[in-house]
Amino acid sequence: MAMRIVVTGGKGGTGKSTVAAALAYELSKTKKTLLVDADVDCPNDHLILSVKRKKIKDVLQFIPEFKLDECTKCGKCAEICKQHSIVFVPGKYPAFVPETCTGCKACMAVCPSGAIKEGSKKIGSVYDGKNFGINLVSGELKVGEPVSGELVVETIRVAEKIAANRKMEAMIVDSAAGIGCPVIASIAGSDYAVAVTEPSPSALSDLQRVLLVIRHFRIPCGLMINKHNLSKSFCRKIEAFASKNKIPVIGRIPYSKRIMESTIKMKPVNAYDKQFTGIFSNTLKNIRQRNVEE
Ligand code: SF4
Ligand code: SF4
Repeated sequence: MAMRIVVTGGKGGTGKSTVAAALAYELSKTKKTLLVDADVDCPNDHLILSVKRKKIKDVLQFIPEFKLDECTKCGKCAEICKQHSIVFVPGKYPAFVPETCTGCKACMAVCPSGAIKEGSKKIGSVYDGKNFGINLVSGELKVGEPVSGELVVETIRVAEKIAANRKMEAMIVDSAAGIGCPVIASIAGSDYAVAVTEPSPSALSDLQRVLLVIRHFRIPCGLMINKHNLSKSFCRKIEAFASKNKIPVIGRIPYSKRIMESTIKMKPVNAYDKQFTGIFSNTLKNIRQRNVEE
């Protein structure tokens, strides 16, 4: 199976997608590499890589289908639904709001009369494409659907099948921000986690939270500090935190207008400007060392 590196970090806007695309580009010079955009709420790796995506499949999710002739109007389904997707007025049949349903099946489990059957709704799609020598698999949530770990799991499942069929040697997973279900689904099963952060109090606070998830899965990890030259004093705080927690700093990226330009030109930053090549090739060297050592 292809080695899987997840790029995460907690806070949004720290540059996870820039790092994921740049690592994939660097890695693709020596290994057949698949980049997985698991930030399904807002995928943008296809824009960074200028990939015209083709849809592989739609992803469906469970929703309850009510057989009202079997319903005894007990209201238990509405009581258990954390999403408030079932509205119950005593004496009436339950009313269902499919848009907010996350497919947990709790309503079906508690229904005493078997009035809830398996239905389905489309929650998003999985796409693929290729550019810069990088294969891309990208999940995208349907507009208006609640954030879904299920779509991330399916996107990674499709990516793994493609990786096996095309004999890929490495997989980079670009996770969503935060520490919710979609992020947990991206981190689980990875061989290494790259936590991207920046010198700001909110980024450090979110980093601490995502490290708890990474540690829960016992995945070796390293820290990449983006825009490290913007605040030397806060950068020292992050480095002190990393050293106290025995997390190696595996890369430092300076703030540069060239990064924004590369995004506008739809190129990985190290393909756009060779001065970034060294940063990402050193990061990969550090990952290889740590992954073997830990
Ligand atoms: S599947 Fe879960 S979220 Fe959807 S209606 Fe049933 S209990 Fe609510
Ligand atoms: S739990 Fe079943 S029987 Fe009770 S209101 Fe819901 S659908 Fe009807």
